[in-house]
Order: sequence, then C-alpha cells, then structure tokens
Amino acid sequence: RHAAGAVLAALDAVAVTVDAHVDELGRIDAVAGDGDHGIGMQRGSTAARRAAADAHELGAGAGTVLAHAADAWADKAGGTSGALWGTILRAVGNALGDQEAPTAARVAEGVTEASAAVRRLGGAEVGDKTMVDVLVPFADTLAAAVSEGLRLTTAWDRAAGAAEAAAAATAGLLPRKGRARPHAEKSLGTPDAGAHSLALITRAVHGVLL
Ligand code: ADP
Ligand code: MG
Ligand code: MG
Repeated sequence: RHAAGAVLAALDAVAVTVDAHVDELGRIDAVAGDGDHGIGMQRGSTAARRAAADAHELGAGAGTVLAHAADAWADKAGGTSGALWGTILRAVGNALGDQEAPTAARVAEGVTEASAAVRRLGGAEVGDKTMVDVLVPFADTLAAAVSEGLRLTTAWDRAAGAAEAAAAATAGLLPRKGRARPHAEKSLGTPDAGAHSLALITRAVHGVLL
C-alpha cells in the first residue's frame, strides 16, 4: 500500500478512536478546563478524515493528503488543541512529502518536527501538563527505536507504550498552560485531556500501520 493510503487509514483510525472516546475526553477536560475537548477533537478528526479522503481520491500523495487534513482539522475543531493538531499533521506531511514509500526514519523525523512545532506554537514544555508531556516522549522513543533498526510498527508500538505511560503520569502534575491553569489544583489526580487523547491516537494509529 502506498503512503497516501496508509495516511488515509491512519486518519480514519484517529476519527474512529476519537468518536469512541468523545464523552470521556469531554469529562476529563471538564475537571479543570471547559469540557469541549471531546467535541473539538471529534469535529477536527472527522473533517480531517473527509478532507484526506477527498485529496486521496484526486490522487494526492501522503504529504498533500496530510496538508489538506491539517487545514480541515484546524479550521473545524476550534480550541487550542485544534490549532495544535493542525500543526502536528502539517509537520508530519512536510516531512513525508509525496513520495510513495517514506522510510521509518522519515516518519520518526516528521513526528520529531511535529513535537518541536507544537512547542514553538504553544510555548509549553514537558511538565506543564499538556499534550507536550506525551508528544515529546512519543517522538523521542520512536526516533530511538527506529535508529536501533526496529521496523516502523515495532518502533511505533514501543513509542505508543511510552505515550500511554506519559499520559497517565500527567495526573500527578499541576497545569501551567491553557485553560486548566486557573483551576490547577482541581486537576490533580486527573490526566490532561489533550495528553490522553494523543496517547489514544498513537495506539489507534499503531493498529493500522503495516
Ligand atoms: P481549549 O483548551 O481551547 O478548550 P481543547 O479542550 O480542545 O481546547 O484542548 C485542551 C488541551 O490542549 C489541553 O488538555 C492540552 O493538552 C492542550 N493545550 C492547551 N494549551 C496548550 C499549549 N500551550 N501547548 C500545548 N498543548 C496545549
Ligand atoms: Mg477545552
Ligand atoms: Mg474550548
């Protein structure tokens, strides 16, 4: 299967897992935030999947498919996470380009660039209780595993495990960025919504990697 088809399958898996967790994500965001994380992620991932399918239908390569998905997600999701997810998809798309068979190293590079771009745009660092707490260990674990010579699915599996552990660990943190910050103490004991959704998504994408 060509890269554009794999990207489409991945975006489909993202939308499916977000749909399955929309209420849970809303509840987590409501503990200290405004409760819209589930609905925002659902709007964004659904729009991204549709835009990706349309671009794929017209014969676009992986990078172009991701660029359309990125714009649709940022446009339709609203909220902080919508802009950041647009940034993630755009960075991965730029790294992959439209070649038919990007290497595992190229995929890992794209994820590393996405992590850097989210930190640039949002200004959060590890420990601020945001999706950055998951994105950084996910990107670092993936890059390390790929450079060890593991195949992409095996490397991604390990990185998704690191993402899940990191998302769970945000429960012990106090938020220092975003809407949850003014209600910081309420959020102790609950993971960050955007960190949790990112971990769910890395696991779902692993399920469709070949
Ligand atoms: P909003 O906060 O605008 O309602 P969402 O509820 O969709 O948007 O997303 C909230 C999530 O966005 C948080 O749980 C956190 O993971 C992430 N987030 C918020 N601010 C930042 C930031 N500056 N950098 C990185 N991630 C952030
Ligand atoms: Mg919110
Ligand atoms: Mg909001």
